[in-house]
Amino acid sequence: MDHPQPHPQPRPQSRPLPKAELHLHIEGTLEPELAFALAARNGVELPYRDTEELRAAYRFSDLQSFLDLYYGLMAVLRTAEDFTELADAYLARAAAQGVRHAEIFFDPQAHTARGVPLGTVVEGLGAALDRSEERHGVSTRLIMCFLRDESAESALATLEAARPYLDRITGVGLDSAEVGHPPAKFREVYEAAAALGLRRVAHAGEEGPAAYVREALDVLGVERIDHGLRSMEDPELVSRLVRDRVPLTLCPLSNVRLRAVDTLADHPLPSMLAAGLVVTVNSDDPAYFGGYVGDNFDAVRATLGLSPDQLRLLARNSFEASFLDDDEPRRARYLAEVEAHDFDGA
Ligand SMILES: [Zn+2]
Repeated sequence: MDHPQPHPQPRPQSRPLPKAELHLHIEGTLEPELAFALAARNGVELPYRDTEELRAAYRFSDLQSFLDLYYGLMAVLRTAEDFTELADAYLARAAAQGVRHAEIFFDPQAHTARGVPLGTVVEGLGAALDRSEERHGVSTRLIMCFLRDESAESALATLEAARPYLDRITGVGLDSAEVGHPPAKFREVYEAAAALGLRRVAHAGEEGPAAYVREALDVLGVERIDHGLRSMEDPELVSRLVRDRVPLTLCPLSNVRLRAVDTLADHPLPSMLAAGLVVTVNSDDPAYFGGYVGDNFDAVRATLGLSPDQLRLLARNSFEASFLDDDEPRRARYLAEVEAHDFDGA
């Protein structure tokens, strides 16, 4: 006998759009709860009473207060297990938002400078990445970033120290404060990375000028540009990026929080798509910038009025721009998932 349901069943959540995340700093996924748990485990004193007070500090107002908090909180990351938990927590959240493949940045110098060996970081992250497919259904790659406000010598020493771990590292990147630290400063370390068979990406054209994007391409030989927003100030550069299909990894919510754009409504993503640029949407430092990659997709969909076709293009771009060249059958499967995605009539 049929009984009417006392409450309507919640409509099943529509499946999130399958996507790759290509611009994600693992240190930027440290949520207040995990920061406190690790602080307690490692006997690290945090200058916040509780997670509420720390969460309030995450509502920083400028770049410097973000960087102070970001580097300050890293003190809780001490052991390989800490890095494993950090990465595992990210992968779980990413999977829930449709991420099928993640190319994860980490900043070795931020850890070695405070006495945590590079091997601890790489092995810790690697343990989470090794079981990511089985546990979260997310394939992964690891990209080691150099801090551009540190010296070129420090970057070279970091690459040298990474030699025993190169089987775990797919490529190198360049991040942190951009202005005053042009890509050419790192010519030598990028040449050495290329000689080791590593893939190359770099942050450029976020707060720095379009000229830094050109320099990253010409001097560092990068295959992707992280951010690259300010490329739009240079029409010739835009033509080149379109012609050569150089992917740009955009991070819309990050751009709002760090004031690269005034509001999300001012974001150039629609004009970049219209120009034919290979753009992707990513989360950058999601614990700090108000959302993971699915939240970024939701925000640009709602605020910039992107159509299902445009969202599908962003997802397709993310897999095409990924370093899955060593596993084309997998890339093809992911792309087929994107094409088959049902936007629920929206
Ligand atoms: Zn970034």
